[in-house]
Order: sequence, then C-alpha cells, then structure tokens
Amino acid sequence: MRPFTYERPADVRSAVAAAAGRPDAAYLGGGTNLVDLMRLGVATPRTLVDVTRISSRAIEETGGGLLIGAGVRNGDLAADPLVRRAQPLLARAVLEGASGQIRNMATVAGNLLQRTRCPYFQDVTKPCNKRLPGSGCPARTGDHRNLAILGHSEHCVATHPSDMAVALAALDALVHVEGPGGARTVPMPGLHRLPGDEPDRDTVLAPGELITAVEVPHLPFAARSRYRKVRDRASFAFAVVSVAAALDVAGGVVRDCRIALGGVAHAPWRAEAAEAALRGAAATPEEFARAADAELARSSPLPRNAFKAPLLRNVLVRTLTDLAEPAGFAESEPVETP
Ligand SMILES: Cc1cc2nc3c(=O)[nH]c(=O)nc-3n(C[C@H](O)[C@H](O)[C@H](O)COP(=O)(O)OP(=O)(O)OC[C@H]3O[C@@H](n4cnc5c(N)ncnc54)[C@H](O)[C@@H]3O)c2cc1C
Ligand code: SF4
Repeated sequence: MRPFTYERPADVRSAVAAAAGRPDAAYLGGGTNLVDLMRLGVATPRTLVDVTRISSRAIEETGGGLLIGAGVRNGDLAADPLVRRAQPLLARAVLEGASGQIRNMATVAGNLLQRTRCPYFQDVTKPCNKRLPGSGCPARTGDHRNLAILGHSEHCVATHPSDMAVALAALDALVHVEGPGGARTVPMPGLHRLPGDEPDRDTVLAPGELITAVEVPHLPFAARSRYRKVRDRASFAFAVVSVAAALDVAGGVVRDCRIALGGVAHAPWRAEAAEAALRGAAATPEEFARAADAELARSSPLPRNAFKAPLLRNVLVRTLTDLAEPAGFAESEPVETP
C-alpha cells in the first residue's frame, strides 16, 4: 500500500479545507470499500481525511420527509423505526446489501460512492479506462457477465454496485453536499453518471465535495413499495439485477409509480420509459410486461450478459404484480403518513 497521511478534522469546514485543491486526498467513511481498494493498489490517495467522527449520524423527520446524516451506518439505517415505517423500500434495499458486519461499518455517503466491482477495475495488472483512462476496456470482449446492459459506452460497461442507491433513485432523494465552492444539493438520479467518454468519473461531484446528508421526500404510496434483488448466492453478493418499485393503484388503474433498476448500468437506472407506460394503464401483468419492454427497448446487452434482459423483465413484472395485489405488499412495514 502506498504511504499516506491521515487527518481527522474537527468539523465539516475543516474537512473540506483539508481536501480542497488536493486531488490525491480521499474522504474516509467506514473504509469497507476504500481501504480494500488501497490494499489492491487501485486507490492510491496520499491523504486520508477521516470524516467518520464529524459526519452526522442522525435520522430526522422533516416537514417533507427524512433527513439522513452521511455518517449513519448502513445497519442503523435499515433498523431505524422511522425509516422502516416511512420508507420501507429504503430499509429493505440496505438490508439486501453486504453482510451484517459490513453494514455496521459502512456509512450512507460511503455506500453511495463505492466503486464498481468490475473485475478488471480491481486488478491493477489489467487495462481499464476507469482506473487508467485511455488504457482500454477489456470487459467488452472479456468477462462482462455481470456488467451493464443499459447506458454503457464503448469506453466502459461497468455497473454501479450499491443497492441503497437504487432505492434512493426511485425515491427522488436529494444528496446534500459541502464543497470548496459552498453547499449544494444533487438530485437522485443525477448523482451518478453514465460512463460516456469519461468513465473515470463515477459521479457529478467536484473534487473535494463532501456528502453531508441525504434527504428522502415523503412518498404517499410508500406502503406499496418493494426492493427485489437477484444475486448469485443468497447473501453477501452484489445484484445481478435488482428492482426498486412503488405503485399507486386505484380502481385497478396505475395512478403513479416509481421504478429504479440496479445491476444493469453505470448508475442506478430510473426506468422512465416503464413509468410513462404504466401511468394510467391497467394494473395487470400484461401492462407490466408492456412497461418492462418499453424500458428494455433502450437496452443493448453484450454477448455474455444478454440473459439479464429477460431476467430483468421477469423480476420487474413479478414485483409490480405483487405490489398490485392487496396481499402483495403485506410484507412491507406499516407506513405512517404525516
Ligand atoms: C464482501 C462485500 C460485499 C458487499 N456487498 C454489497 C452489496 O451486496 N450491496 C451493496 O450495496 N454494497 C455491498 N458492499 C459494499 C459496501 O456496502 C460498501 O463497501 C460500503 O457501503 C461503503 O461504505 P464506507 O462508509 O465503508 O465507504 P468507504 O470505503 O469509507 O468510502 C467509499 C468511497 O466514498 C468516499 N466517501 C466516504 N464518505 C464520504 C463523504 N462523506 N463524502 C464524500 N465522499 C465520501 C470515499 O472517499 C470512497 O471513495 C459489499 C462490500 C463487501 C466488502
Ligand atoms: S467496464 Fe469499465 S471498469 Fe470494467 S474494464 Fe471496462 S472501463 Fe474498466
């Protein structure tokens, strides 16, 4: 591991000052991803700015939803009664990720900014445009079984690994950021980028910007929401595909819906085409299949991940069908509407 200096600033302002103008500085959350990547030689920061003690670990109810501190541990987030009541989809998505031990270390901000699990990205003996811009993308012709089918480019076909981010993209969350240029909020989806010709940039954050909180607006039909994840083994595995969905049905017709997809793109993928097809449609498996097809019309699978398209279609139709049936959302936690 390359030698680095370690700083523990006293507050957010000092943390931002410590990282400002230093592209080789990195914020340290729980370290469950960053430290692994440092051990592998993939991440080589010269300065670690430890923000664990200054990041808020509070979960508060605001007039319009929940405000979740960047330092809230994933385990605490999933177990929080407020989150489980008001945003069961979010609690469920977090619980589907990693293991109990990792969730107890991992922070909300670190989870959002974890790096791709593309095998070439994690292997410094291989070329990779994301790790070393211009070196090539061996995944396109090599091992891409678990990589993107939507929104990829000739430069990168990686997927974003976070389950939590998929739920937050469905819930229209706002990411609060503090940076050298001041404070701002970044909407989700919108925090994570598609690769285009700059796959080394995962997000729209500027160098030195620190995530301080995530705001999740109240969703009136949160009770009818679900996160469904397909993975290669029952736990401790990243999504092959996942669906975060919420459905508002009245008189057998879809009034409104939210759908985001995971494991299929460089960013959590908001299924806008499927949502548009569903609004005003009958809440039937046939219409759900039509909506899935509308979304998948935008996909371009690679030879060894073409199986993801029918898999995603089936998971989406199954999830929406469950949500449309009165018994289908019995699994969700009860929701209190403000
Ligand atoms: C074996 C294993 C299995 C896993 N399975 C899953 C899974 O199924 N689903 C899933 O979603 N995740 C999974 N994970 C990933 C895990 O969720 C992440 O490692 C974790 O969420 C990262 O959080 P952290 O606080 O430890 O981040 P860190 O490792 O500390 O940081 C990650 C990144 O975020 C940056 N960062 C941290 N805090 C801030 C901040 N406040 N502002 C700006 N930048 C910041 C860091 O600089 C770094 O780039 C798995 C991990 C492991 C090791
Ligand atoms: S898919 Fe992206 S991360 Fe993977 S090898 Fe290609 S450029 Fe690197």
